[in-house]
Amino acid sequence: MFARVLPDQAAGKILDYRVPEAMSSKIAVGSRVKIPVRTRLLAGTVIELLDACEFTSVKDITDLMDERPMIRPALLELAYWMADYYCCPLETAVCSVLPVAVRDGRVTAKKQNTVRLAREFTESELEKIAIRAPRQADALRVLIDAGKPLAVTKAANLSGVSEAVFRTLEKHGFVAIEASVVARNPHAEQYVSGAELTLNTEQEAAMKVVVEEMTNPSRPILLFGVTGSGKTEIYLRAIRHSLDAGKTALVLVPEIALTPQTVERFKSRFADIQDRIAVLHSHLSEGERHDEWHKIHTGHARVVIGARSSIFAPVENPGVIIIDEEHESSYKQDEAPRYNARDMAVLRASREKAAVILGSATPSLESWHNAQSGKYRLVRLNQRVDDKSMPVVRVVDLRRPARNDPGGGILSKPLREAIEGRIQKGEQTILFLNRRGFSTSMICEACGHVCECNNCSVSLTYHRAAERLVCHICGHNQRAPKSCPKCSDPRIRHAGTGTQKVEEALQRIFPKARIARMDADSMTRKEAYRETLGAFKEGRIDILVGTQMIAKGLHFPNVTLVGIVNADLGLHIPDFRAGERTFQLLTQVAGRAGRGEMEGEVYVQTFTPFSPSIQFARHHDFEGFMEQEMEFRRSFGYPPFGKMAMITLRGTMLERVEFSAITLSRKLKAAAPEGILVGEGVPAPLEKAKTYYRFQVSLRGSSSMRLARLARGVLDALPMPEDVFVAVDIDPLHLM
Ligand code: ADP
Ligand code: ZN
Repeated sequence: MFARVLPDQAAGKILDYRVPEAMSSKIAVGSRVKIPVRTRLLAGTVIELLDACEFTSVKDITDLMDERPMIRPALLELAYWMADYYCCPLETAVCSVLPVAVRDGRVTAKKQNTVRLAREFTESELEKIAIRAPRQADALRVLIDAGKPLAVTKAANLSGVSEAVFRTLEKHGFVAIEASVVARNPHAEQYVSGAELTLNTEQEAAMKVVVEEMTNPSRPILLFGVTGSGKTEIYLRAIRHSLDAGKTALVLVPEIALTPQTVERFKSRFADIQDRIAVLHSHLSEGERHDEWHKIHTGHARVVIGARSSIFAPVENPGVIIIDEEHESSYKQDEAPRYNARDMAVLRASREKAAVILGSATPSLESWHNAQSGKYRLVRLNQRVDDKSMPVVRVVDLRRPARNDPGGGILSKPLREAIEGRIQKGEQTILFLNRRGFSTSMICEACGHVCECNNCSVSLTYHRAAERLVCHICGHNQRAPKSCPKCSDPRIRHAGTGTQKVEEALQRIFPKARIARMDADSMTRKEAYRETLGAFKEGRIDILVGTQMIAKGLHFPNVTLVGIVNADLGLHIPDFRAGERTFQLLTQVAGRAGRGEMEGEVYVQTFTPFSPSIQFARHHDFEGFMEQEMEFRRSFGYPPFGKMAMITLRGTMLERVEFSAITLSRKLKAAAPEGILVGEGVPAPLEKAKTYYRFQVSLRGSSSMRLARLARGVLDALPMPEDVFVAVDIDPLHLM
């Protein structure tokens, strides 16, 4: 027998090997093997088994790394599809369906000695032993009380004797000691069982559709329901339904929403099968990840909860795949393969005949479009379970304060007064700072005009050195204005300058308030996040300032005020999704206010109060926003109406990167078939990241697959300088 092997580091090569006799009964497609390649030993994946081989001198496979194939055929197929669609090397796609901890066999199962009684003991027998050897009797009693095998270390601890005593007992034939595999269980706490709630009418109707789809999957369900409308309850029921049908379930939530509270909510509902729930997230140690993965691989785990990469969890026979917050951009992987886990979920579900539920309070335009066209099945939950009204959203126009309230550009008078009021009443405030300090567009502080590209309707990027404004989608390029093109006011500048100073400003204005900040910088320690949230929950913090981290999923009944310090920061970035993201963010943040008994208020500070995403969010009008945003996307051919690919080049030598980008654009244009638009090679909005210069070339057309083929064809034939790195992003979510 021969095997066709894809080495992990193959540079596109696929190699044939002979399967040694001893391995032939265990090896299969999807097996991981060690193979000799020239002088090295490499890890690889078996992608095909062959009866004959056309080469005369093939080497033997050196080692078979697993007893049962690590990659199931269904997942191998997903990897093939991914390599093709997302334009990445096959070996990269194949590797990505295995966690690193499992892939190279570096981490292995943790073995430990467990001890169990070899036979039963009567009380009188124990008493006799106690006279002769009291410590042995103690040890036996611990095992009798436990009524199950115990880890030797644990049994020793419980009985207060040394482990040697158990060895002696073993010699007497009283107990048996065995090495067994134990799972490093990161969530070892016990959970009390959470009862099922009685569904309300809307949930009943939703559940009916879910059951229909699970019985006979036809199309994905888009579960559109405001925050607090009871979507999670639907997920829990769907999982139970799947388990009852003898199937498994896969739940994906965004990484930052994968908090202990979230996990607890699922684990407590399924307390009856607690150890059969696997949780995969980035805070696990390699060992824990290895164990959780194996729990799934061996079929022990029936429910998997995890972030993006869990879409490749090797659960067999899933009855339902759930993607919570389907609009979240963290479902998109930012290195090759640049897949979107939501889209992979739809693909995987259709291949494995599972139902798929995409849930969100603010569905993406892509999914909404699919629901409108009938490709997805729309299910709504219109009411909050508790019937609470949505908080009042107040838009603070920063344009006027800029004149009569110096310093008001950071914290306006209305917002300051609102915070003051909360402090006096002992209520809490969350201040939301959009993504730190990155801003490249120009905005007029007097009238709110933003410099945009006429062709593409995205903000132009300001390049300080050259004093120019550039569109990174089409390549349009103009002088940066000295005064506002609309109202001639000279106060035209970078959007968002000075927002980092919020904390300082807060301290100055509210010297007695207890203020804490929560962002990626201040939360580098694992426990810092938990500590700060704990302190906030207990009321030991008055004002919490933070980034995306605090935007979702947290329940704080005493928070009655949420402030968005600068909505323009996210709104005027050179990305056609800026409006959609701002709308989602405002909606989500608004959901943070007034979770308890008290009414909530949201303040949004902005220089562009007229922006549709702000106005629609203010009125909690999702569908109004969708309608208007769809129109914009349609007229510029943006997704979901057209497809896009972004090719980013980076390197340390500016001239080389620029030259490569220009050459690439030229070659792409020459090779592009009718209907594909190729942009110029221009600096990326994030022109310099770390020590790299970045340039981009955009591709647009009606089919992502065609864009990927064009990119692959041209890039394969175009040698790049060694120090210029190319990344192809199909269906990019971030254009920076
Ligand atoms: P979502 O996931 O849409 O934000 P949740 O499922 O978290 O909403 O529900 C919000 C709150 O309402 C939770 O505290 C949940 O326990 C509660 N809840 C959900 N469904 C019901 C129900 N049918 N009856 C009573 N409470 C419910
Ligand atoms: Zn343009």
